[in-house]
Amino acid sequence: ENSVKLNQRRRRIGVMGGTFDPIHHGHLVAASEVQAVFGLDEVIFVPTFRQPFKLGCPVTEAEHRYLMAVIATASNPRFSVSRVDIDRATTTYTIDTLTDLKSALGDVELFFITGADAISDIMRWKDIDQLFELAHFIGVTRPGHSFNPVNLPAQHVSLVEVPAMAISSTDCRNRVKSHQPVWYLVPDGVVQYIAKYGLYADDARLQSDSG
Ligand code: ATP
Ligand code: MG
Repeated sequence: ENSVKLNQRRRRIGVMGGTFDPIHHGHLVAASEVQAVFGLDEVIFVPTFRQPFKLGCPVTEAEHRYLMAVIATASNPRFSVSRVDIDRATTTYTIDTLTDLKSALGDVELFFITGADAISDIMRWKDIDQLFELAHFIGVTRPGHSFNPVNLPAQHVSLVEVPAMAISSTDCRNRVKSHQPVWYLVPDGVVQYIAKYGLYADDARLQSDSG
């Protein structure tokens, strides 16, 4: 009887969307903490192709961002990386991410994990009512960003305090560009991947233009 019940429990899947340019320990700590607090079976990192709010900003080639996420998550049996957004290859909307994952994964319970900077304006996201039907939303604390919990519907959104990691991808990119270390801000394999492909060095983002 117990085993029947265990089999019937819907798998609980965390979904961590982000540009991951590059993935860093702030992302990994947040995912790990939410995995533990909500007893998630798995957390899937989903690199975006391009974000609607960042249309003017150039981002590193999706394949590099995807591979860095794979390297960073490889050692954790509960972490994986999905290509749904980068393979769709159009502006990424969370509604599409969750719809595609749900049809690929079947009858699972989805938990969308997002930082304090994004959750504050979540109510303005495209198709918010549909989003709440597809997943429970989890906002994680982030140094330098405060929650504005007003108007967040408690049945759809939970807030989780994670150990503070004052790391951003922007800061990592700037550090590489100015020859400061990113050791221990990103996983070792990501430090080495960045060096191997010369990512974030001066003019790295213009390479495709100059041939
Ligand atoms: P950028 O500086 O390029 O915007 P970022 O560090 O914000 O990069 P994203 O890929 O934009 O990283 O973030 C993906 C998700 O991870 C977002 O929901 C963001 O709020 C969250 N996040 C990023 N860094 C942290 C951190 N240090 N602590 C908690 N959450 C974080
Ligand atoms: Mg960001």
